Amino acid sequence: MSAHECDVVVVGLGPGGEALVARLAKAGLAVVAVEAELVGGECPYWGCIPSKMFIRAGNLLAEARRIATLSGTATVTPDFSLVAKRIRDEATDNWDDTVAADRITAAGATLVRGHGRLAGDRTVEVAGETYVAAKGVVLNTGTTAAVPPIPGLSDTPFWTNREALKAEQAPGSLIVIGGGAIGLELAQAYARFDTDVTVLEVAPRILAPEEPESSELLTKVFESEGIGVHAGITIDRVDHDGTTFAVTCGDATYEAEQLLVAAGRRSRLDDIGLDTVGVEAGKFLAVSDDMQVTGGNGSGGLWAIGDIVGRGAFTHLSMYHAERAAKAILGEPLADYDDSFPRVTFTDPEVGGVGITEQQARDKGLNVRVGLTDVSASSRGFVHGLGNEGLIKVVIDADRDVIVGATSAGPTGGETLSALAFAVRAEIPLATLSNTVYAYPTFWRAIESAL
Ligand SMILES: Cc1cc2nc3c(=O)[nH]c(=O)nc-3n(C[C@H](O)[C@H](O)[C@H](O)COP(=O)(O)OP(=O)(O)OC[C@H]3O[C@@H](n4cnc5c(N)ncnc54)[C@H](O)[C@@H]3O)c2cc1C
Repeated sequence: MSAHECDVVVVGLGPGGEALVARLAKAGLAVVAVEAELVGGECPYWGCIPSKMFIRAGNLLAEARRIATLSGTATVTPDFSLVAKRIRDEATDNWDDTVAADRITAAGATLVRGHGRLAGDRTVEVAGETYVAAKGVVLNTGTTAAVPPIPGLSDTPFWTNREALKAEQAPGSLIVIGGGAIGLELAQAYARFDTDVTVLEVAPRILAPEEPESSELLTKVFESEGIGVHAGITIDRVDHDGTTFAVTCGDATYEAEQLLVAAGRRSRLDDIGLDTVGVEAGKFLAVSDDMQVTGGNGSGGLWAIGDIVGRGAFTHLSMYHAERAAKAILGEPLADYDDSFPRVTFTDPEVGGVGITEQQARDKGLNVRVGLTDVSASSRGFVHGLGNEGLIKVVIDADRDVIVGATSAGPTGGETLSALAFAVRAEIPLATLSNTVYAYPTFWRAIESAL
């Protein structure tokens, strides 16, 4: 059978792959887009969008419960079927990607359904057909939930993010293995629908990649909401007797109706033919700043974008990588790589971070100064009252007088982060930041106090 010729093959259509296909096709290239599951990837169907809809619903319940202190009386009766319906009908079209697939073809690209594998230089095999790409191949195969090798776990009907976001009913009780962003967001959202939730984290603290102050803050808030938080533990085994999960951690055994494993993500790199181009991947694929895969047979023509490159697992990064790969492929000028990228954990309070943490700055040998302020004690925090927990932390390189990292936690932590993200990215001098008027009484005015 003869090979199909084209300019570019994109294998895997996460948010970045989808955007890249449209961008290149609209620029006039012949693009073949390969997808094994749903066009758009994890984010719209089992990730960002459904989880944020769920969180929005849970946060409304939490706000309603605050009414008793602030404004009167309300009877709050959670109805999980409403959020399940909204996820099914509005977020995911019942896990149907027709609209996204049509966008790909409308842009002029060819969509091929199936599992794509490299079959040598600039060549991809999918569904028994071979595609040869004159310019090259872009990999955007993303991640799946990592399942830790805990004895007994694999024999149980545990949930990952996919089942947790496709559920039709909230379980009576839930153990969450993993106190990272995904585990914490889902833990709190379920708790707000009256699920009795326990979070188990093997690292010494939850939300370990962020500042310790953020971990302390969320631990305090979660515990005040009745969510069990156990960090620094060892999980010995998991059992399921047909109705109940039992998680054994030393002398303690936690039991629940459901178990969610949110213990990190695993790159989908093992069955995509990397060996056929001489590329060895560890946990991630190494790329240069134009997203070109490094190593291998050295002939070029292989790019990778999104979670698999190990530069942060966020939709906005996948899209950023896509634009960089597009520019590289189209021969357009590329600016420097922005590695200060923002990240937001959408708990209540939201925890936003940008740039490096205080510890990372110290490890780099910077002359570090730190500013920290309590958002609940700020003017807006005072006005807000119940639910006002938060903090702003800035990490300053005192030799250059610029912020190299910042945290913004609070009721609008993710939004407030935007000002700090610009400050870090643009290396705005401290003198300018200090000689700036911060609107009163906003949450972002607390940045001035931190400075
Ligand atoms: C519960 C949850 C909540 C999240 N919330 C946020 C959030 O609020 N904000 C945020 O920025 N990020 C969030 N993320 C992360 C975000 O979903 C990912 O970073 C984002 O989807 C980018 O991933 P990606 O582009 O690497 O590919 P993915 O989205 O993982 O998609 C990869 C695609 O490639 C396909 N594929 C894989 N292998 C092949 C193959 N060999 N052939 C053909 N197709 C293949 C897959 O089927 C999939 O469709 C969340 C993730 C989860 C799980």
